[in-house]
Amino acid sequence: MRLLVVEDEQKAGEYIQKGLTESGFVVDWANNGPEGLHAATTCHYDLIVLDVMLPGLDGWQIITALRKSVDTPVLFLTARDALDDRIKGLELGADDYLVKPFAFAELLVRIRTLLRRGPIKEVELFHLADLELDVPKRRVTRGGARIDLTAKEFALLHLMSRRVGQVLSRSLIASQVWDMNFDSDTNVVDVAVRRLRAKIDDPFDVKLIHTIRNMGYVLEDRR
Ligand code: CA
Repeated sequence: MRLLVVEDEQKAGEYIQKGLTESGFVVDWANNGPEGLHAATTCHYDLIVLDVMLPGLDGWQIITALRKSVDTPVLFLTARDALDDRIKGLELGADDYLVKPFAFAELLVRIRTLLRRGPIKEVELFHLADLELDVPKRRVTRGGARIDLTAKEFALLHLMSRRVGQVLSRSLIASQVWDMNFDSDTNVVDVAVRRLRAKIDDPFDVKLIHTIRNMGYVLEDRR
């Protein structure tokens, strides 16, 4: 198992790298944001431990860039115990977080738990009820009938398909599909979901996109 640690504090970085190496992992350590992002996008890692406060690019910017193409589990390290920070990390696609200072044993438990869970599954052909997404061909059908989607509609459906059964908040969708930041007006998401529904749900009896009040949207077959 190969892990990437992105941490700018020398002592903390050494401590984490040494501890994880002794625990049997192969560990690469990047000590600034740009190096961390470069490593994360060019090498394959089973998990990334990502500090939030980093020189060059911070942890938020790194995970936002990463989540466009990489589904590697990310464990955030945050020095601040603010609830907003933790929520923001999870919204942007982090899988878990740990507040500094932490006990090494806890870091190890969190890492092992995430590794057992594995990355979000990336499939080329996605099926749900009679909906089919051919990701490489960017083709969507329902009941065998072709459905034309715009690029954004496809990106939205693809995001939902990769997290089928999970409630996706508007801000998460906005950050992943439109690259808008967390605080932007997310009304654009509601409009896009409505348009997507008009194409993939409205003409069919079985609805697959569901609204979760005050939370967001979920793609699932509820029969
Ligand atoms: Ca730091």
